[in-house]
Amino acid sequence: MLVQVDRNVCIGAAPCVAIAGDVFQLDDEGKAIIIGPANDEENVKLAAEACPVRAIFLYEDDKKQIYPPEKDQARPYEEAN
Ligand code: SF4
Repeated sequence: MLVQVDRNVCIGAAPCVAIAGDVFQLDDEGKAIIIGPANDEENVKLAAEACPVRAIFLYEDDKKQIYPPEKDQARPYEEAN
């Protein structure tokens, strides 16, 4: 599973860090960054669901979006630069 954070949406509320601190941490700007792979997929999904502004996006390995599931919240996977 692939994980991304939309930093334009993240408000640094940090439940993602509390739930899955091995995957999410806050950076100097107080926004979430990904620090590790989503090994515990259920836990990462819980973190995504806990984000109050739905800034966390989960994808299958083929980049098909898993979460959020709604079509109007589709966000293409962004390849790293
Ligand atoms: S829970 Fe959402 S808003 Fe809060 S730090 Fe994590 S990604 Fe950002």
